[in-house]
Amino acid sequence: MFLEPHFKRSGWIEVICGSMFSGKTEELLRRLRRAKIANQKVVIFKPALDNRYATHKVVSHDANSLEAVPVVDSQQLMNLAGGYDVIGVDEAQFFDAELVQTVQQLALDGCRVIIAGLDMDFRGQPFGPIPQLLAVAEYITKLHAICQQCGHLATHSFRLSANEETIELGAQQTYEARCRSCYAEGEKKQKEVGAQG
Ligand code: ZN
Repeated sequence: MFLEPHFKRSGWIEVICGSMFSGKTEELLRRLRRAKIANQKVVIFKPALDNRYATHKVVSHDANSLEAVPVVDSQQLMNLAGGYDVIGVDEAQFFDAELVQTVQQLALDGCRVIIAGLDMDFRGQPFGPIPQLLAVAEYITKLHAICQQCGHLATHSFRLSANEETIELGAQQTYEARCRSCYAEGEKKQKEVGAQG
């Protein structure tokens, strides 16, 4: 269970990462709701390209939602972040590299910044600015899903379709949470099929 620290002079950065279906957005919303109950000024930003469900809501897969502000880049996020105590960033893997500097400035200005994002893309590679954010954060939470093949802990997002585009936003039909070995097995099978085709 994550417990909020109490620093007096500056803010801090929290990162919630993990594969798809690991509950990152739920955890982000849980922390933000608690801050909101405490009358802190709370805002959520998300990349404007993520319009899976609704434009102005962060919606986790269980439809537990809270109002969110779509922004085109981290510069716009910075411009809109004034006056808030707690700043949530969802789907942070889709932001530009500048986000790393932006959230550090916000923390220095006294904000608590909570970032949620995929740590790896469907190729199993570190995703966007997330590795750098993990390095500079005070607190890191790595969540796991359950492997849809074997039921063990899942760390990887396996893509069932053969589309090579990295930015393909998830729905349950196109992705599966998988453990390392089931992920590797699936990749091998897809390569075999690809070689035949
Ligand atoms: Zn597995």
